[in-house]
Amino acid sequence: GQTEKASTKEKLVMATSADYPPYEFHDTSGGKDEIVGLDVDIATYIAKEIGVDLEIKDMDFNGLLPSLQANRADFVMAGMTPTEERKKSVAFTDTYYEAKNTIVAKAGSHLTKMEDLAGKNVVVQLGSTQQTTVEEAAKQIKDMKVTPLNKIGDLVQEVITGRAQAAIIEDTVAKGYVVSGNHLEMNPLPDNGENAYAIALPIGSPNAEKFNQAIKKLKESGELDKLTKKWFDK
Ligand code: GLN
Repeated sequence: GQTEKASTKEKLVMATSADYPPYEFHDTSGGKDEIVGLDVDIATYIAKEIGVDLEIKDMDFNGLLPSLQANRADFVMAGMTPTEERKKSVAFTDTYYEAKNTIVAKAGSHLTKMEDLAGKNVVVQLGSTQQTTVEEAAKQIKDMKVTPLNKIGDLVQEVITGRAQAAIIEDTVAKGYVVSGNHLEMNPLPDNGENAYAIALPIGSPNAEKFNQAIKKLKESGELDKLTKKWFDK
């Protein structure tokens, strides 16, 4: 839970963008508002292993790494992919998950591959690897317009209202938004092998080794499989 308890333990602050079910999202059931998800459970596990308390700060995805660099957070966990570009400014732990991209479009729109997006308005999350990948692909595709927006919910809304014809989102996350009544469909893009997830730390962080040890234990103990099942078999 996120209630404040008197504690003498050191505290680590995790920055995230809680628009990314089932990794991090607001659980507002029963009148509460709590950030939950697979990433949150993994962070809780790591914090316990290291022997520290955990505090979670929610912000736009695009603001995560700047907040880490400004020392407003100790680590970033947000389904974040370690890229060469990001490694210029932060360090990453070992990876703990692998996702794939999918096209989210109105049901029946037959947008099944990148080339089908010629002449279309396509939305992506600002600062994400999807933005980089899709903007790069668009250079080869006629009249494909790419617009980055802050929140995943906003991307989906643009497609529902028809202002955009497609959103490119990771498949496990898209599933949470492509619910009955939304009249949307998902068409998987070829796996570009660029969507592993890792935790970002400041370069030279004293926690790096402890984080990797905890991730190793998380995997080897079977706890990661258990948590993954918990969040994906819902
Ligand atoms: N994995 C993608 C990235 O690192 C998207 C993450 C996200 O939008 N939360 O950019």
